[in-house]
Amino acid sequence: MSIAIEPAGLSETQRQIVELAREFARTRIEPFAAEWDRTAHFARDVIDALGELGFLGMCAPEEYEGMGLDTVTYLLALEEIAAADASIAVSLSIHNAIPTTMLVRHGTPAQKERFLKGMARGELLAGFALSEPESGSDAAALRTRAVRERDQWVLSGAKAWATNGATADLMMVMARTERGISAFIVPTDTPGYRPGKPEEKMGLRASNTVALALEDVRLPADQLLGEDGAGFGYAMEGLDAGRLGIAVQAVGIARRALEHAVAYCDQRRQFGQPLRQFEGVQFKLADMATRVEAARALAHVAGARRDRGEDVTTSASMAKLFASETAMWVTTQAVQLFGGYGYMRDFPVEKLFRDAKVTEIYEGTSEIQRLLVARGLYPRG
Ligand SMILES: Cc1cc2nc3c(=O)[nH]c(=O)nc-3n(C[C@H](O)[C@H](O)[C@H](O)COP(=O)(O)OP(=O)(O)OC[C@H]3O[C@@H](n4cnc5c(N)ncnc54)[C@H](O)[C@@H]3O)c2cc1C
Repeated sequence: MSIAIEPAGLSETQRQIVELAREFARTRIEPFAAEWDRTAHFARDVIDALGELGFLGMCAPEEYEGMGLDTVTYLLALEEIAAADASIAVSLSIHNAIPTTMLVRHGTPAQKERFLKGMARGELLAGFALSEPESGSDAAALRTRAVRERDQWVLSGAKAWATNGATADLMMVMARTERGISAFIVPTDTPGYRPGKPEEKMGLRASNTVALALEDVRLPADQLLGEDGAGFGYAMEGLDAGRLGIAVQAVGIARRALEHAVAYCDQRRQFGQPLRQFEGVQFKLADMATRVEAARALAHVAGARRDRGEDVTTSASMAKLFASETAMWVTTQAVQLFGGYGYMRDFPVEKLFRDAKVTEIYEGTSEIQRLLVARGLYPRG
């Protein structure tokens, strides 16, 4: 049995997308990922190449020059990229899931023409700025303000940990107006948009994460997305898709750790036999494999529900919660199975272990996912 996605059971489109993503990941990402991690290098050229293949338009409809993939196919592709490098995967995931979904659902035809098409074609990389230094889990407490002055909106405030914040072409920025929380499309060359220096991170080191200062960022009135005051709901819809992306990012990390562990336990000998002959090792590998399969299945079930038009807030939270804790657990076991070598930078599993941690934190911590799952059990409040 293969640990990776097997082509049997996939549709023809899915098989083609998985093969394209897997081949790209094998040749253009995996050989360089350790170096990018060491040097904290953001590989924009690789993102651009993925864009040329259509991977920045996975969730955009074909009429806006996207691939128009269903959610499950999008998740299959993303897992392949994440198994090669979680940093590249998070850029792709946020771009495809959050600003794209928000624009598809709530953008005007003119906004779609101007922004969504370029994003789908891979010419514009997008990010999402919700979190602030004082509001993470309690995102609705954000303090960035947007004030209407005649035909302009003027944004001021501070954002924290914006993925792609210094490397994107546009950001979906959440700010408070008199009517409530609203979403604004902010091209990153707008005067007053000031990204900080890249954060030094434990993992995902090749991903760009920055604080943002918004200093009187003046936007034409038509860069408000949808209705004034309705943006928080739009962001939560985007986060449903985003959490599924993080779930398969975690699956990709866990799967690659398991693949390394399986190979290592076959080749490493102690007490005169390969590690895989020890029952204690077999039990670990079996549990790792079972959890990877279960995490992927949960993400795909939630993806299929989304494709049927169902509300997926609870199931996306379940998938993200389970997959991220799986990634942390599986990578911990992989480091253990590699023994001393597992702790060394020359071997691949310590990077996977470091990359796994953030999946339990961003797009809502595990504690917040548990709160959302529990809330889903009492739908009437
Ligand atoms: C690498 C990275 C990239 C990121 N990218 C983005 C991005 O692109 N855009 C963006 O907007 N944000 C981004 N974030 C921010 C991320 O979403 C937040 O860090 C996350 O939501 C948690 O918020 P916080 O860090 O403020 O933690 P806090 O909210 O301060 O939480 C601290 C601890 O308290 C717990 N806690 C909080 N409230 C409760 C509660 N009610 N019950 C139980 N426990 C609770 C949390 O679970 C956590 O363990 C990124 C973060 C990182 C690390």
